[in-house]
Amino acid sequence: MPFKSSYKEIFTANKKWIERKLSADPDFFKHLSQEQNPDYLYIGCSDSRVHANEVMGLEPGEVFVHRNIANLVVNNDLNALSVINYAVEYLNVKYIIVCGHYDCGGIRAAMEPRDLGILNPWLRNVRDVYRLHEKELDAITDQRERYNRLVEINVYEQCLNVIKTAEVQKSYMESGYPLVAGWVYDLHDGLLKDLEIDFEKELNRIRKIYDLTKGK
Ligand SMILES: [Zn+2]
Repeated sequence: MPFKSSYKEIFTANKKWIERKLSADPDFFKHLSQEQNPDYLYIGCSDSRVHANEVMGLEPGEVFVHRNIANLVVNNDLNALSVINYAVEYLNVKYIIVCGHYDCGGIRAAMEPRDLGILNPWLRNVRDVYRLHEKELDAITDQRERYNRLVEINVYEQCLNVIKTAEVQKSYMESGYPLVAGWVYDLHDGLLKDLEIDFEKELNRIRKIYDLTKGK
């Protein structure tokens, strides 16, 4: 595939973007540089077609973002856990959103029975999600539908992984925040689908085994 735009064009586009922002609000960068006060932490896929601010219709400063392949929250991933910690304890976000997307290459790759090198341990987390929901997924005969359902179930399991963290449990007990939500983005029409995860119910269920609200 040919290289679509020259490297230098990015800096020209950057200057035009600055002009647009300043013409709409002369103090745009003054406000933005003072502090960030986002209500949302968005954990999404690295896929270039899914951009948190764009799909949520939010401006810079309004959403704290973490992205990785297949929007995973892995319990020994210092990167994701540090983002969650900072978002909850310092930014006091009101919502943590895990957002997957249909036609996710990471999810599809995880379903391929082959050696994917360095991606193996990362995508193993998705294979484990499949194993946990094997019965439901195996019952779906259409392969595309099965992938799409795995995208949704993966989001659900990653929301549970967020709820399993001490920061989220303790903060929610103290302040009623953050709430955790799971979404799936559809690349074909741009729509966000709320999986309507019952946060209270899942939190109570999770705490039976993963209660970290006591101590420290
Ligand atoms: Zn993806």
